[in-house]
Amino acid sequence: MNRKKYERPVNSTRTPVYRDAGFELTNADITFEAFQNEKENYYIPEKFIYSRYRNPTILEAEETIMKLVGSNWALLTQSGMSAIDTALSIFQKAGDSRPWLFFSEIYGGTNSYIDSVLEDRRGINIQRFQPDDMLYDMQKFDEQMKALKPSVVYFEIISNPMLIVAQADEIIDIIHNYNAIAVIDNTFATPYLVNPLELGADIVVHSATKYLGGHGNITAGALCGNDECLLKDALEYRKLTGHMISPDDAYRLNTQMQSFSLRFEKQCHNAYAIASELVRSDLISKVYYPGLNKHTSYSIASELFQDKGYGAIVTFSFSGKDNNQKRQRRDAFIESVSEFIMLVPTLGNSHTILMPVEPIWGDRYPDPGMIRLSLGFEEADEIVEIIRNALRSSFQ
Ligand code: PLP
Repeated sequence: MNRKKYERPVNSTRTPVYRDAGFELTNADITFEAFQNEKENYYIPEKFIYSRYRNPTILEAEETIMKLVGSNWALLTQSGMSAIDTALSIFQKAGDSRPWLFFSEIYGGTNSYIDSVLEDRRGINIQRFQPDDMLYDMQKFDEQMKALKPSVVYFEIISNPMLIVAQADEIIDIIHNYNAIAVIDNTFATPYLVNPLELGADIVVHSATKYLGGHGNITAGALCGNDECLLKDALEYRKLTGHMISPDDAYRLNTQMQSFSLRFEKQCHNAYAIASELVRSDLISKVYYPGLNKHTSYSIASELFQDKGYGAIVTFSFSGKDNNQKRQRRDAFIESVSEFIMLVPTLGNSHTILMPVEPIWGDRYPDPGMIRLSLGFEEADEIVEIIRNALRSSFQ
């Protein structure tokens, strides 16, 4: 691979935003050479041609992702969904009818994409693997792999909203024992907690909209890997489908990623503080946080994340004599904290935000009093105080 770094033309501290759609190629000979060269030096071309192919601002942001994720290559896309589409589509081959196996506990948008794009439109044989009692049973997974012989397996390390942690090392080993490809969405755990490529994953995807961007102001995705052939396929797919991030977003993402580890460390710390506070309240029937030793994933998370943290999401349920009372309590809480904690349908923002589970997931999770909190990097004491006050004042 051409590993030559892109040279900045002036002594700026970072590559500026190159907004050119196409780059000047001067004459016919240079144009011919540029297009020839682009085929060989697909990673960093001698000359930039067109921003949907390669762009210097985007390349520099990709270098930052590579350092964060510990990968040999990284590609940015305009959303997490386009990173997922790229990561999966490069494994679709005409005439290959082997199934693709997806863990059931994955982001709802990915599940809808699987149903309506992969299955209904592209005719891929889709299979699912489900947890039992909030745990992935490795023997069952092995049996399912043996029976189905899928070519691709896809899962998330921390699931949403129940925060089940997948024992990624064992799962990847089983996937490879059956010669399948492991594609992992590491949006929730982030490279701060675990590097799935080190555990053998073939491709890792991120919604960079979340913790990598970290401020709720950029929609972006990233896919990363070590294998050169996969990079070639992914670059070609991104170029031909136009799943390209804009130079402006890449520049801002690159700047915001400089503080990623600092932010995420604080967000994990805040999540732990809030989870520990919530378990003390009689109004809360259940707190789901893999850092609490009552969570089914506690020991798996401790081992996999090596005590660096347990993620920055906390899900909890209001108690109540019936579903109506649970909903009333949920809604009173949302109203009470709304000045400080906004209801925003995303996660990983700089400020703590929340989402009620039932309006999004319907009756998939039987507890209508459930709320998902995404911790920001404010001072932990401030958030604890806001939540404590809301629990005290709304339910007197
Ligand atoms: N993966 C996970 C785990 C997500 O939570 C999301 C969005 O919420 C996505 C992927 C999709 O990312 P985006 O909204 O950036 O397309």
